Amino acid sequence: MTNTESAPGPTRKSSARTATTKAADPSSIQVRNPGTGEIVGTVPDETADSVAAKVRELRLYQPEWEEIGPEGRKVLLLKFQDWLFDNTDRLATILQSETGKARVDALIDPSFSADVIGYYARRAGEFLADEHPTPHSPLAKVKRLSTVYRPYPVVGVITPWNFPMAMPVMDAFPALAAGAAVLLKPSEVTPLSALELAAGWAEIGAPPVFSVATGAGATGAAVIDNVDYVQFTGSTATGRKIAVACAERMIPYSLELGGKDPAIVLADADIDRAAHGITFGGMFNSGQVCLSVERVYVEAPVYDEFVAKLTANVKALRQGLDGRVPKYDVGALANENQTAIVQRHVDEAIAAGAKALTGGKRAGFGTAFEPTVLVDVDHTMSCITEETFGPTLPVIKVADEAEAIRLANDSIYGLSASVWTGDKERGARIARQLDVGAVNINDVFANLFSYALPMGGWRLSGVGARWGGAEGVRKYCRQQAITTPILPPAQKELFWQPYSVPKILLAVAAMRAAGARGIRRLDLPAVLKLRGGNK
Ligand code: NAD
Repeated sequence: MTNTESAPGPTRKSSARTATTKAADPSSIQVRNPGTGEIVGTVPDETADSVAAKVRELRLYQPEWEEIGPEGRKVLLLKFQDWLFDNTDRLATILQSETGKARVDALIDPSFSADVIGYYARRAGEFLADEHPTPHSPLAKVKRLSTVYRPYPVVGVITPWNFPMAMPVMDAFPALAAGAAVLLKPSEVTPLSALELAAGWAEIGAPPVFSVATGAGATGAAVIDNVDYVQFTGSTATGRKIAVACAERMIPYSLELGGKDPAIVLADADIDRAAHGITFGGMFNSGQVCLSVERVYVEAPVYDEFVAKLTANVKALRQGLDGRVPKYDVGALANENQTAIVQRHVDEAIAAGAKALTGGKRAGFGTAFEPTVLVDVDHTMSCITEETFGPTLPVIKVADEAEAIRLANDSIYGLSASVWTGDKERGARIARQLDVGAVNINDVFANLFSYALPMGGWRLSGVGARWGGAEGVRKYCRQQAITTPILPPAQKELFWQPYSVPKILLAVAAMRAAGARGIRRLDLPAVLKLRGGNK
């Protein structure tokens, strides 16, 4: 079901607006609504000099931001959370204008962003508190040991276009909560929402420790040249370039990359729930979610029933260009490039013998592509081997659980997976055999809404992870080890020169006694030899 109505435009013009096509002015980029083709903004294509200047300014203000500590930062982060709530409708409209998303999908971004910020604002104090680990040996108990978390001064966050507000917030705000300053480089396709974030940060009176540089790949490369840590979300191909650039500068990085997430439907599953869940998992945000379901493996006894129910659900989706009042379930794709990939995957599958039970072609407005179910698919087709990032659900019949696991693992990616079964223990057992960073049992995306869990890809889906409770802020910190004496200071420690052989023998014997096992604790041939050598 396809329809269009006039899409809302942004209600506030930003002085700096970015996007998809290069404007006549070589120093700016035009942002288009992919559902209508209309230009909705223009932003600067920032140069390396401009990026370097922004990082210099961030470095000026970061020490104070670190100094006020997690409790001081919490006040401002929660004020920003209020700003998000107060501006949700306006922000959703801007976001919708640069993505062509369904209204409901656009409304999710600001609310999800507020939720992430609240979690890290409130918990950062606990997560960043100094730790005092127990010394590994009784001999080390003469010191108080401290692990201290100190932020990287400037973190560069580079993001894609699929969630123009949530994506930046998911990583930039945990870094801010850690005490780092952040330079965000949003996608050139959807920079308007990111600029609104920066405007909101200034509006609440927060210090200038968060800024945005707009532009394409060259601007992103300049960010890497200037910052102390890089958090990247985007394609695997770009992620590889980022890793090389970071290695050249010897700076740490974390990469959240592409995926090809499998769903496994077992014969004991609730087929209605599986069909609804997988419809949502494949079609939410027009399939442009890193964790989208992109492959479905169904046990033979329930294959026909599942395919019939899935196809009915997908057919019933309402597709169109929403206004301010939510009317549709599925909108447009982010750009023509994306539509071309989806079309190629569908065309190649059909040419090789697959069938589209519904969809299979462009939806008739802007970049939109019809929600599509593909069957008679095999494991060599591009719709199975490559990331599609669009509204397609290829379905494959499998003989049993073992074949489903084998095919699910037959991918270069390893982001997440879902298992649909009536037996939770069976689901958990299968989860441990899947080579992916997250598994949702009888659900999709649940890990995305669980900030206490790490969200990271295995294989070519990533390096490192975001979130994971305390790790989500600690990753933006350097760990500093501090030892403080407990005993009153002696003039000279046992091992300090000039060496006293009897004292060193005593110390070595004590180390053996503390560190060795069984008889070796007392057997001192090495010590005696040392004494012999010194006679
Ligand atoms: P992309 O890799 O083309 O671009 C991502 C960002 O990198 C953009 O801001 C771009 O300007 C920038 N960039 C490009 N070249 C660069 C370079 N040489 N140096 C520095 N920056 C550079 O990705 P995309 O098409 O915008 O996004 C879609 C991809 O993102 C998909 O593969 C999707 O799976 C992935 N993604 C992953 C996650 C995750 O959490 N794993 C989440 C969302 C999207």
